[in-house]
Amino acid sequence: MKPNRLPIRLVLVVLAFTIGLPGLALRPAVAQDPPPIPSPEAFFGFEMGADRKLARWDKLVEYYNVLGEASPRLRVVNMGESTLGNPFLVLFISSPENLARLEELRQINATLSDPRGVSEEEINRAVAEGKAVVVQSMGLHSSEVAASQMVAELTYDMVTRDDEEMQRILDNTIAIMIPCFNPDGEIMVTDWYNQTVGTEYEGVGLPWLYHHYIGHDNNRDAFMQNTIESVYGAKILFQDWIPQAYIDHHQMGAYGARLFVPPYADPIRPDGDPLVWREMAWYGAHIAYKEEEAGKSGVVNAAVYSGWGHFGFHWITPFHNIAGMLTESASARLATPLFLHPDQLQGSRRGMPEYEAQTTFPNPWPGGWWRVRDIVEQQKIAVLAALDIAARNRETVLRTAYLKAMRQTERGAKGKPAAFIIPAAQHDPLTAGKMVNTLLGQGIEVMQASAAFTHEGRVYDAGAYVVSMAQPKRGVLRWLLGRTFYPDDTYTRDRDGNPIRPYDMSTDNIAEYMGVRVDPVDTAVEAALVKVTQKIDPAGQVAQGPHGYVLDGRLNDSFKAVNLLWDGKVEVRRVDRPSTGLRAGDFLVSASAPEALVAEIAQETGVDFLGLDTEALSTSHPLRRPRIGMYQRYLGGNMDEGWTRLLLENFGFPYTTLKDAEIKADDLHEDYDVIILPADNVARMTGERPEGGSGGFRSRRPEDYPPEYRSGFGKEGVEALKAFVENGGTLVTFAEAGALPIQKFELPIRNVVAGVPSKEFWSPGSTLRVNVDNTNPLAYGMPREALAMFLQGNHVYQILPSDRNHRIERIATFVDRDLLQSGWLLGEQVIAEKAAMVSVGHGQGRVVLIGFRAQHRVQTHGTFKLVFNALLSTPPDAQTTNGR
Ligand SMILES: [Zn+2]
Repeated sequence: MKPNRLPIRLVLVVLAFTIGLPGLALRPAVAQDPPPIPSPEAFFGFEMGADRKLARWDKLVEYYNVLGEASPRLRVVNMGESTLGNPFLVLFISSPENLARLEELRQINATLSDPRGVSEEEINRAVAEGKAVVVQSMGLHSSEVAASQMVAELTYDMVTRDDEEMQRILDNTIAIMIPCFNPDGEIMVTDWYNQTVGTEYEGVGLPWLYHHYIGHDNNRDAFMQNTIESVYGAKILFQDWIPQAYIDHHQMGAYGARLFVPPYADPIRPDGDPLVWREMAWYGAHIAYKEEEAGKSGVVNAAVYSGWGHFGFHWITPFHNIAGMLTESASARLATPLFLHPDQLQGSRRGMPEYEAQTTFPNPWPGGWWRVRDIVEQQKIAVLAALDIAARNRETVLRTAYLKAMRQTERGAKGKPAAFIIPAAQHDPLTAGKMVNTLLGQGIEVMQASAAFTHEGRVYDAGAYVVSMAQPKRGVLRWLLGRTFYPDDTYTRDRDGNPIRPYDMSTDNIAEYMGVRVDPVDTAVEAALVKVTQKIDPAGQVAQGPHGYVLDGRLNDSFKAVNLLWDGKVEVRRVDRPSTGLRAGDFLVSASAPEALVAEIAQETGVDFLGLDTEALSTSHPLRRPRIGMYQRYLGGNMDEGWTRLLLENFGFPYTTLKDAEIKADDLHEDYDVIILPADNVARMTGERPEGGSGGFRSRRPEDYPPEYRSGFGKEGVEALKAFVENGGTLVTFAEAGALPIQKFELPIRNVVAGVPSKEFWSPGSTLRVNVDNTNPLAYGMPREALAMFLQGNHVYQILPSDRNHRIERIATFVDRDLLQSGWLLGEQVIAEKAAMVSVGHGQGRVVLIGFRAQHRVQTHGTFKLVFNALLSTPPDAQTTNGR
């Protein structure tokens, strides 16, 4: 755990990193007598991708530094530390002449990617003098081991090969490589693999998450940038270099095509520039061609991966006018070869109905042994093919970059909405500021009004933000701030009419996620506007009153301030009944709180400490800092658990990770007030084997792992959790985890969407409208109407008739009609007016069941308070004084 580390790094990155800064380049500016260039075999002692061999990240870093010292074609830049403190590298590979004028070439590239106000002459010069910029990244998903090995060999080839093809690439392109997008995970998986090689567990995946917080979800973070690795990626792709092409190299399952290359399958997400989709087909065709030329079989285009995906880097980049692509190689078993029989090979639901030859898959791989070396070889061909076609067509590629940016700007100027206005008056203005920062992180231009103005009949105060669609990043803006309806058509239904799950969410509207009001407007905004050039980082005001301070309970950051006050041993109360100037849910801070501490917390959190003029003891209750535990299992780890850790750390909540042994303790209530069960199914928590569990190496069965990693707290754990609640504890369950107390504690509620066929109810990652009872302490500070992030498989609750009706509280309920704000929803009547979040009294304690994803990926700021309140509020029956 490294609390507060991320924000500090964020600041450092923003301040310190520029490509040209000499202090950060590991290679000295002038090298006399360059040292000899060692091959990977000579350096590592084995060929990249050799059976059962993985080079570890620290060794790879050493190798890149050696190559950087020895070759004028390579510049190695250390962007800073990863989440766990390992170096995050970016490699610039080009001709020595290009590298010598890298900053100038960066400026030329910037002109082409945002040509607003630039003369035709200047564009022509930029096209003539610029170089094609191609970013490629490897090792984002650490279990997909080949790419971060491959790129070492590729880099060696690029700095040593002198043939015509390589010379053309070096002269005409700037190849930017992120050789490992998740250095921490590379180390974890390499160490784990080496530990299991030669045992019966060889080739089994890592038992825990391969990113400290977010595991495989690290490619769901590009648009929100909650992790430092995503901040680095965004800096390269969205701010410093808007490349003409970007490819993220991945691996998929073992039993289909050997290699997926662009373009994507249908459906595609609209509103990108059409040229970007043509470019993807063009790059993909060349990659596939080069693979066939080299005798590689099993390559498929336009299949498996749809063009409408999540907003990870490769799927968001097309809306930044970048040909944002993916390759997916078939996996082995980590670095262990896998044998496949012909009849085991399968097609895909998308674009490859059979494992047979088709126009986009003319040469099926026949089966046999499959090794990491095979992946390394096909990936190397793919990386170079993308560079080769860009190098051969440098001017076309650069002119297209200009055309995409200009045409998107023109579409934005003509279309509706013309702009989005983010009013200054917000339920939680600090969260609105974070949303603006998210837009800035995308390199989007945001303006701020320096005076009040009226637009389309509405009055906006000074401080409102205005985001015009007349900018090159119109495409990404449309999806981040515009209402979204996922298509429901033949591309998204199977032959039987069942909806096909989108690749991830069915909306990415961050304003809806964050609970921020954004007004789309039809006409361009005429007002006094100033461009926002720095991230919003407001400092709170401090004004002491005779009775201390009051903090606004509607601000998420007030919860962080409360935690920091508790760190300083300051007492905090919470208002239960509104009175003059106080709302239920506001926090009261004693006048004796050290002034310096208060000033520091106001500065850090942005929360105002307002003077409390009247004594409010009778309308508030003292808050006790909760002792929080959260369950963590193995079986590959639970990403929702990791994200929740990140959420708690971001807002200063201390917590204890509880593994099976701690859950099974019979005195949980002595040590904890609240225990969280992150979203998970019951079988994975208890360790009971799922019925009819799928075979294949990717399954996560307990018996696949060494005994010490076969997690599951079993009946004993269930009994301990039950006793914890009966003795006065609060059990908080997220989404599917609610099934555990419902089934095992026999709670008088049921999940109404359990077992409902997908044709009748379907909501894969949508924002749904809920009414919130904000007079209940579990919803203090929330607006009366909110948006719940609902994923397929989440819960919706109905209260069953029982003599315990009075012990159940409905905290949030779905509205009665028109539930869908954005995404995809079938069968709204199934859940209309049913509960999205309930509290069920049980013994002396309670179970708080949040059926949807209130803290989804630390992105749904609009509902964080429901989680925070569940941590802070005491069960009604356990309250002795100051009952509500
Ligand atoms: Zn992957």
